[in-house]
Amino acid sequence: MRRDLLFAAVTARAPDNSEGAHLERLQGIAVSPGVAIGEALILDNEGFRIPRRFVQRDAVEAELARLTLAVEAAAAEVDRNRVRVAAELGDEYAAIFSAHLQMLNDRRLRQELEDMIRTRHYSPEYSVSRALGKYAKVFQSLDGEYMAERANDIFDIQKRLLRHLLGSSRQELAQVTSPVLVLAHNLTPSETANLNPQFVMGLVTEIGGPGSHTAIVAEGLGIPAVVGVGHFLTDVSGGETVIIDGDQGLIILHPDEEMLARYRHEVEEQRTLAAKLETLRDLPAETTDGVKVTMLGNIEFPAEVQQCEERGADGIGLYRTEFLYLGRDDDPPEEAHFAAYHEVVQAMHGKPVVMRTLDLGADKMRTMPNPEDERNPFLGLRSIRLALRNRDLFRVQLRAILRASAHGTIRLMFPLISTLLELRQAKMVVADAMEDLDEAGIPFDRNIQVGMMVEVPSAVLMMDRFAEESDFFSIGTNDLIQYCLAVDRSNKDVANLYTAADPAVIRLIDMAVKTANAHGRPISMCGQMCGNPLYTMLLLGIGLRSLSVTPAAIPEVKRVCRSVSIPQCERVAAQVRTLETARDIKTYLKEELSKVFPEFPV
Ligand code: PEP
Ligand code: MG
Repeated sequence: MRRDLLFAAVTARAPDNSEGAHLERLQGIAVSPGVAIGEALILDNEGFRIPRRFVQRDAVEAELARLTLAVEAAAAEVDRNRVRVAAELGDEYAAIFSAHLQMLNDRRLRQELEDMIRTRHYSPEYSVSRALGKYAKVFQSLDGEYMAERANDIFDIQKRLLRHLLGSSRQELAQVTSPVLVLAHNLTPSETANLNPQFVMGLVTEIGGPGSHTAIVAEGLGIPAVVGVGHFLTDVSGGETVIIDGDQGLIILHPDEEMLARYRHEVEEQRTLAAKLETLRDLPAETTDGVKVTMLGNIEFPAEVQQCEERGADGIGLYRTEFLYLGRDDDPPEEAHFAAYHEVVQAMHGKPVVMRTLDLGADKMRTMPNPEDERNPFLGLRSIRLALRNRDLFRVQLRAILRASAHGTIRLMFPLISTLLELRQAKMVVADAMEDLDEAGIPFDRNIQVGMMVEVPSAVLMMDRFAEESDFFSIGTNDLIQYCLAVDRSNKDVANLYTAADPAVIRLIDMAVKTANAHGRPISMCGQMCGNPLYTMLLLGIGLRSLSVTPAAIPEVKRVCRSVSIPQCERVAAQVRTLETARDIKTYLKEELSKVFPEFPV
């Protein structure tokens, strides 16, 4: 059937069943704990917000005129494309635009949109989003690639119309001013970082994996989040009430009263637990047999220092400085770096701050990746490799870090070191920057410690050599897991394989800690693994005494530390070493944790 005729057949038949729709539970990947209940704010691929808005009765005619203008503008645009493509590639290729044109001019669709505005008083934006979303959903429900493509055609038209309707009124996500749950196809880490946690109560994306930076940033902001749900945005409209269960990785659409009551009760319980944990703030993370564990915080922005302070952190174990680049279009000048770093060290009042040098690339890009980009970005020019290729950029940052080191306790750390030569080269750039500052008479800490992240298996295998040249180590499990198991941390389709509980990952950690200890080099962990109380006993049993976690996780991890003894943890680690699968290890650790804290949602 021709595309346009097929569309006409569907518009004739598709029921508008979104009112009174049935409860739907969708499983995704749990990446940031907590429960959120609230109004959905939908962002499509282009980030359009389509809340349910109503138009005043006396504005209906003007809104209808606006719709007409948008349809005409979109049709003119499609026609221009049709003419150009026909001239360059031939009529066969231009047929797709003819079909889009037919759909835009479809009488039944137009009538439906006008009815929504006239009788339900929906805004044209909301009407377009809802009506076309409904048709796309019908095509998606039909089998076959051809039908899936038709759904994409409809999304294309929807986007085009919305672009014309929204024009310059497109609101930025950062400017949301009422409580919402953000539901999106995807969000970049910097978009996520710009969310205002005062209003964004929860977050769900269709794509994304457990170790993606979007997930990590959501956790850092303390926003319950679920990623990798798959297609669902067409099943929900802006303004509807949804539930996000960040503990179980669920999103619940069209919840009934019973479900809402259950989750409201859970929100209350969480508040009680959080209040209980708050009392730990000024107590040390000390085991029952008197061993002190250093609890550090991971931050992306200076503003997060306050959260670390509020939760009693002993310092900052990971400052992801690359977020300074992600929030802007140009490269930050030295003064912008310095201002941010200075703010952090000052606020920490002499407590140590581990500043990781820029770790850009892979999923930490300024814009959404396009298909022309590197095919394997996680194996490509990212992180320290990118910094060493762009030495001017790198030097600007290093100068700022060194300058800030005169005002507090800073430790410098390189990300993703995979060879000794890389470490040596990076240290040479630091030495150059020091020389420049010396010549200019600018003060800095001459004894600044320079260390590296351990996030590539080669770094673990060569650790005895690295120990001779690196002042300290910090294990980055987020990357170590993906490079150990060959699993892309941001790909939902292999998320089941991405786990810190894999025995191979645990062996690498074990090796790293043993080697560092044998060489008398301090070693810490800053990957997400150590923010999960499930692993606390294991990590203490392996020999780690310094953990750097998302500020929100400090109280829970501290609570585990204060309830266990080192010999008990060593027994747990010994037992884990005998187990062969991630599933067995997780089950065992859950049992052990529930003996200590039955109420933890593990
Ligand atoms: C890690 O890889 O564990 C880490 C802490 O760095 P990031 O998550 O920023 O890659
Ligand atoms: Mg990393």
